[in-house]
Amino acid sequence: KKTIHIIGGGLAGSEAAWQIAQNGGKAILHEMRGVRGTEAHKTDGLAELVCSNSFRSDDSDLNAVGLIHHEMRLAGSLIIACADQVQVPAGSALAVDRDGFSDLVTEKIAKHPDIEVVREEITGLPPREWEQTIIATGPLTAPALAEAIQQETGAEALAFFDAIAPIIHFDSLDMDTCWFQSRYDKVGPGGNGKDYINCPMNEAEYNAFIDALIAGDTTDFKEWEGTPYFDGCLPIEVMAERGRETLRHGPMKPMGLTNAHKRDEKPYAVVQLRQDNALGTLYNMVGFQTKLRYGAQTDILRMIPGLQNAEFARLGGLHRNTYLNSPTLLAEDLTLKSRPGLRFAGQITGCEGYVESAAMGLLAGRFALAEASGEKPHLPPVTTAFGALLNHITVGHLAHEEESGKRSFQPMNVNFGLFPPLEAGAIQKPEGHVGRFRGKDKAQAKKRAYTARAKIAVREWLG
Ligand code: FAD
Repeated sequence: KKTIHIIGGGLAGSEAAWQIAQNGGKAILHEMRGVRGTEAHKTDGLAELVCSNSFRSDDSDLNAVGLIHHEMRLAGSLIIACADQVQVPAGSALAVDRDGFSDLVTEKIAKHPDIEVVREEITGLPPREWEQTIIATGPLTAPALAEAIQQETGAEALAFFDAIAPIIHFDSLDMDTCWFQSRYDKVGPGGNGKDYINCPMNEAEYNAFIDALIAGDTTDFKEWEGTPYFDGCLPIEVMAERGRETLRHGPMKPMGLTNAHKRDEKPYAVVQLRQDNALGTLYNMVGFQTKLRYGAQTDILRMIPGLQNAEFARLGGLHRNTYLNSPTLLAEDLTLKSRPGLRFAGQITGCEGYVESAAMGLLAGRFALAEASGEKPHLPPVTTAFGALLNHITVGHLAHEEESGKRSFQPMNVNFGLFPPLEAGAIQKPEGHVGRFRGKDKAQAKKRAYTARAKIAVREWLG
């Protein structure tokens, strides 16, 4: 049997080991807990959930994470099978008994004849005699290994800290209020002087917004001792506290922008949104990293004119997170371009969340086994949730780096904004629908069209 080494027995590593062993290979899983802990894990169990006990929506017709659950079930996922077994009531979400879940994964892995678990910290890149290795050491990768990865990839390629700005679905923006324009109509590479979406504020709106930011609840994410804010990455609420005008002279400055809907009215402040994916379905809020609590965050951000109905693909947050600049470093089958036979999986590749991490573990396990067996890894189509997320990680970002000099690849949950657009006529009126077909009804039909297309494609991919 072909042997594949996996470093890290979290959500991604456990799933990868299972896929390898179930499909005819042998997995050796190296997990350091038991020998060395992390800042967030509390037990030695495999696939420990460090924070919430939810795998989020299980609705595979209307929700992208529900869809990826469905795809994982079809692919024989260990993580989802165990979650299903120890489910607790949580409406349409798949939530689990946290300890029961980790215990079950640990037991299934321990009992599998083709998986060996070794409790040890791996402190450097895998030795060359390990022909196939998957690194799945997660957001809290131990420092010695992180340093070794950094030596291989270059210092700029591995981030240790995550200050993220919210991302919004383009089709939830009110374009009768917002307008497209680059500051001073500057034409950048590949641009036309209209690269940004601008949301105007008058003085009263700006003041109300600043008051809300200062009053807003900040997150209960575990604060890392001595964590410094990166230069140029201050959370907006911290900037607001430093002075009422700070944001107006920073990310909300109105200079060089003219409201296309009200040309004679000079905006007092402007929030800019920048295209976040090649498809143009997602926009991020420029300079708007925040650690406001999620509930407070949506309420406060919807105060911005043009964003009153904004749907967020991802909210802002701030926590330690070790992840690669994957689009430049990883090939489409998750191999490190500079080291054949070495793959990455899980949150270290720049996906976000338990489910997404496990899904990337599932793919990495299958790809590694295929390669070890002399076959070419069979990639999932980009119309599936598997493929859409893989594409985001390995290719689907915009090259803002060249424009701004800053790295722009950010971790992301799976969401419909990552999927290629639907074919003409794909959005169908549900049977028996009366009245005009628009708004929420149409948005739901659109989601159904995405998931229906994905469900066919994933079955074909799995054969
Ligand atoms: P992990 O599950 O972290 O697994 C990595 C494993 O690698 C760990 O077991 C670790 O001990 C091991 N390891 C690390 N270095 C080495 C080494 N050198 N040698 C051997 N073993 C090593 N996601 C959510 O969906 N919901 C949440 O509520 C949530 N809250 C979070 C809160 C915090 C504070 C953090 C840091 C993350 C949170 N996440 C949350 C993200 C979540 O951790 C990941 O989505 C998920 O656990 C990633 O899976 P993974 O397999 O990539 O990494």
